[in-house]
Amino acid sequence: MGLSPQGPTQPAAPPCSEGIVKLINHWINGRETSREPERVGDIYDPARGQVRASVGFASAEVVDEAVAAARNAFDSWRQVPLSQRASLMFRFQEILRKNLDRLSEVVSSEHGKVLSDARGEVVRGLEVVEFACGIPTLLKGEFSENVSTGVDAYSIRQPVGVVAGITPFNFPVMVPMWMYPVAIACGNTFVLKPSEKDPSAANLMAELLAEAGLPDGVFNVVHGDKVAVDRLLEHSDVAAISSVGSTPVARYIYETAARYGKRVQALGGAKNHMIVLPDADMDLAADSLVGATYGSSGQRCMAISSVVALGDAGDELIEMTRRRISSLKVGPGTDPGAEMGPLVTAEHRDKVLSYVEAGIREGADLAIDGRDLRVPDYDNGFFMGPCLFDRVETNMSIYRDEIFGPVGGVLRTNDLDRALEIVNQNEFGNGTAIFTRDGGAARKFVHEVEVGMVGVNIPIPVPFAFYSFGGWKSSLFGDSHIYGPEGVHFYTRGKVVTSRWPDLPSTGVQLGFPSQSSN
Ligand code: NAD
Repeated sequence: MGLSPQGPTQPAAPPCSEGIVKLINHWINGRETSREPERVGDIYDPARGQVRASVGFASAEVVDEAVAAARNAFDSWRQVPLSQRASLMFRFQEILRKNLDRLSEVVSSEHGKVLSDARGEVVRGLEVVEFACGIPTLLKGEFSENVSTGVDAYSIRQPVGVVAGITPFNFPVMVPMWMYPVAIACGNTFVLKPSEKDPSAANLMAELLAEAGLPDGVFNVVHGDKVAVDRLLEHSDVAAISSVGSTPVARYIYETAARYGKRVQALGGAKNHMIVLPDADMDLAADSLVGATYGSSGQRCMAISSVVALGDAGDELIEMTRRRISSLKVGPGTDPGAEMGPLVTAEHRDKVLSYVEAGIREGADLAIDGRDLRVPDYDNGFFMGPCLFDRVETNMSIYRDEIFGPVGGVLRTNDLDRALEIVNQNEFGNGTAIFTRDGGAARKFVHEVEVGMVGVNIPIPVPFAFYSFGGWKSSLFGDSHIYGPEGVHFYTRGKVVTSRWPDLPSTGVQLGFPSQSSN
C-alpha cells in the first residue's frame, strides 16, 4: 500500500534481555514506597512488543495509606497563602520546562507515541500549570458593601479536601495535568491513579513536584486497576473524583462515586466528526484529516474518526488522503523521523484490526488498507498502518463504536442539515470540526451541533487552559468540564459571609510599608 515504514538505525537492547525488570511502585507521602506489591502488571515497550518494566497494583490498604497521607497534608496545605501556592506553581512550571525531553521520552517509551507528539502533550499539560499560577486572581470572591445598614456580604471559595484523579493511558502527562495543578493550587491534596499501561510519567511528575517544594502528602500516586479505583470511589475521606477514560468506565465511576456522596466529573469516550463542505480548502482539510485521524495512531479522545463529506468533497478528499498516507513514516516513537508509532498493546491492536474486518463484512469500502504494515527490525511491535473506509453507514459498528485506532471512515451526504443530524444522533459529543469557506454554514453548524468542543477549520479543537475541556452526551458524566474556570469551580466550594462589626479600637501607629509578613 505504499506506506513507508521507518526503520531505526540500531535498536537498543531492552532491559528485560538482562533479566532486570524495573518495578514502578506507589508514591505516597513524598517518596516511592519500597514495599513489595501483592500484585503487579506488565509495562510494555510497544515498539518492540516486549515487557520493559512492571508496576505494582495497589490493594485497598495501600489506597487507604495514600488517602491518609493526603488527608494529613490537607490541614496545613490549605493554610498555605495563595501567593506561596502561586510561587510553587511557577517553580514547577520552570522545572517542567527543564525536564520536557525527559518527560516526553518516558511517555513515548511506554505509550509508543512519537517523541514530537509526546512533547506536544507535555506542553499542553504545562499550559494548565501556567493557568494555575494565576490562582490568587482565580480565587477572588465577590464583595457587597452595606447590604443592610452596617452589614457587608462577601463570597469565598474554599478547597474541598482530598481529591482523586483516575486517568487513561493515552495522555499519561497531559490528562493528570488537567487535574492536579488546579486542584493543588486551590488548596486540595491529591491522589492520582494513572493508567497501569504507562505509569512511569506519574512518578516522574511526583518527583518534579517534590523538587519544586511541594510538601509531602500533597500529591500521591497509587498504581493499579479496578481494586484501587473502587477503594478511592468509596473512601469517606475522598471528597471529589475527576476521571477520564472510556464511556463504560466513566459511567461506572460517576454512578458509584455519586452514590458515595462525592462530587464527580467523569469524562468518557468519543466519536468525533469532521464535516467537509465542497467549498473547503481541500489541502487544509486533507492535512487536517490525516493529522487528526492518524496522529498518535488514532489513540486520542479528540481524534477524527468519522468524516462527513458533502457533495463531491468525498472523492477529492480520499484521493488527497491516499497521497499523504503513502509518504507517512510509521516507526518506533524514539525515531525522530517517525510520524506515527505503534498501538499501546497487542490486545488493543488486535481489537482495532477486528473492527477493520467488521467494517469489510458490514459492506464499507476499505479505500486505504494498512493492515499488513511491517516495520523493519520491529516485527514484534504493536504496529498497524492507517486505514480509511469509504461509504460508511451509520448502522455499522465501525461508525457506532469508538475504535481508538488509526481507522477513519467517510460518510457521504448532500446537505448540511443531514450532516448535522448525523452528528447530533451520535451517542458521543466530545469534539467536532467543520471545514468550509462559508461563514453562514459554519455559524449554523456551531449553533446547532450538540457537541462540547467545536472547531471551524481546526481539526482538534482542544480548548486552551483558560477555557475548560469537556464533551456532551456520553462523553461526559457530571456537571463540570475539566481545567480552566470550571476546574477551579469543581475543586472548590462556595461560602457566603454576611457580617456586621462593632467599631474597633485602633491598633496604633505603624509607619512600615505594609507587607504580607506584617499583615
Ligand atoms: P479505560 O476506561 O480503560 O481506563 C481509564 C482508567 O480507568 C484507568 O486508570 C483504568 O485503570 C481505570 N479502569 C479501567 N477499567 C476499570 C473498571 N472496570 N473499573 C474501574 N476503573 C477502571 O480507558 P483507557 O483505555 O485507558 O483510555 C482510552 C479511553 O479514554 C478512550 O475511550 C478515550 O476516548 C478516553 N479518553 C477520553 C478523554 C476525554 O477527554 N473525554 C480523554 C482521553 C481519553
